[in-house]
Amino acid sequence: TDSDTADEAVRSTCDDATISKRYATSRGYWTDPYVQYFARSVGERKAPEINRGYYARVRGMNHLLDAFLRKTKCDCQIVNLGAGLDTTFWRLKDENLMPRKYFEVDFPMIVARKIHNIKTKPPLSKPLIETHSTDSLLLDGHCLDSDRFCIIGTDLRDIQGLDEKLRKFHLNPELPTIFLSECVLVYMTPDQSSKLVNWASDTFHTAMFVNYEQVNMMDRFGQVMIENLQRRQCNLAGVEVCQSLESQKERFLKTGWENADALDMMTVYSVLPQDDVARIEHLEFLDEKELLQQLLQHYSICWATKDKLKLGLSQVAF
Ligand code: SAM
Repeated sequence: TDSDTADEAVRSTCDDATISKRYATSRGYWTDPYVQYFARSVGERKAPEINRGYYARVRGMNHLLDAFLRKTKCDCQIVNLGAGLDTTFWRLKDENLMPRKYFEVDFPMIVARKIHNIKTKPPLSKPLIETHSTDSLLLDGHCLDSDRFCIIGTDLRDIQGLDEKLRKFHLNPELPTIFLSECVLVYMTPDQSSKLVNWASDTFHTAMFVNYEQVNMMDRFGQVMIENLQRRQCNLAGVEVCQSLESQKERFLKTGWENADALDMMTVYSVLPQDDVARIEHLEFLDEKELLQQLLQHYSICWATKDKLKLGLSQVAF
């Protein structure tokens, strides 16, 4: 059916992200010893502005996540929504920043692939086994559950199914919890993504939600980006609505979150540690600075908090 084709196109976007991240790390933009196990080869050359865009995306998401982990002293949970082949679990293990439990959610088909990779690549499975105490590690084709890491296959548009599965694997609503969605909500309708963020604020009293996605799609450059996605038959019902930074914040403020902030990625890029930005700007020559600006102005990070435990989550910022 049409909707199966659309879902298939959405699922294939996780390979785009992984291949682009692998390429950028191969050029030295940041270090990720694990991404190589999820993308078979380094792949074709990517333009410097694309690599810088991924650099800002990864550094920006990590900045907010790490700030949350410090505020909660890692006594918390992470729920990565539409995680795809993301490698954050392994980074946190290496950096001694493991939360009590790390959850990932994606379509069953993607989860099955990820689990296959984990099973067959010792550098991926070793950290998982090391953080597990008993012999009850669940690792079948569609689901992984250990003491500290859990991967669930489900459709994020089915809130009840999501809630049931996360609880089954002991997601604890009493613990401070951070939700990550990196290039995910954009593939849902505004109604579906609002329900998802609403569920998160209804379920957790102390939480943070970090969302990275396209914004400002109404100008010419934005229209070109939309056409690119449509050509791949992606479901873009949401794109036109969540267009501004204001509407990004509103999605959260209307659904029970106490605070919300949003920055476009050009701003994020300009407030990231500038010594490292200077380092990566020397990696590849970029002729047209305007191209980078235009690209980065069409992506944003929005983060929202609620903080019954008064951990100071509303202070988390750049
Ligand atoms: N977050 C990862 C990253 O940034 O590297 C992957 C991003 S990829 C662009 C989007 C991911 O969201 C895909 O893995 C896709 O399967 C997942 N996704 C999109 N809609 C979903 C839904 N309704 N249910 C579950 N997963 C979904």
